[in-house]
Amino acid sequence: MRILLVEDDPMIARTLQRALAEDGYAVDRVGDGEAARLALDTAGDAYALVLLDLGLPRKSGLDLLRELRRGGNRVRVLIVTARDAVADRVAGLDAGADDYLTKPFSLDELTARMRALLRRDVAREDNLLRHGELTLDTATRIVMQGGRAIDVSAREFALLAALLERPGAALSKAQLEERIYRWGEEVESNAIEVHVHNLRKKLGVDAIRTLRGVGYALA
Ligand code: CA
Repeated sequence: MRILLVEDDPMIARTLQRALAEDGYAVDRVGDGEAARLALDTAGDAYALVLLDLGLPRKSGLDLLRELRRGGNRVRVLIVTARDAVADRVAGLDAGADDYLTKPFSLDELTARMRALLRRDVAREDNLLRHGELTLDTATRIVMQGGRAIDVSAREFALLAALLERPGAALSKAQLEERIYRWGEEVESNAIEVHVHNLRKKLGVDAIRTLRGVGYALA
């Protein structure tokens, strides 16, 4: 799952990027409000969630958020800021944030709040993505197939999760790449094919269908 991290403090940004990557998120990071605007305008719907600092150079987090909402962009936004006054929280939520977390925070709480927001998009009441015999737990990152736990890599998990988010729909290779890799990451041209090949070995050849000229879909 691809996340945009808008944070001007390089140390916080690096720590978060690393920790979230271990959790299987692909995290793009920008350090100011204008760059965030550009990233959101160009990346389309690739981002499942934005982690937004408020005190930012060039354009404040609040201004950015108001602009996005005015322009009809409804991407999930979780404000992560040192500003902990009630008035700041109210302003953030009123500007269109989905949730608000103050620094310092525990990583566990951050990831739990992220999962809660991501659940809302697909109206799920728990952390499970289901399709047929397949169940993905986005909190524990455990994949089950017909009661059997399947060992998958972080990328394979991300790819499966992308397909399970919309079980009926096909995703192209480019759409899958943009959901599981962050910017500037070295991506082999056949990376998606390799992941799909490995997943078929683990889940059965029929688990993922290839739609010629379109992409991949769950069986
Ligand atoms: Ca800041």
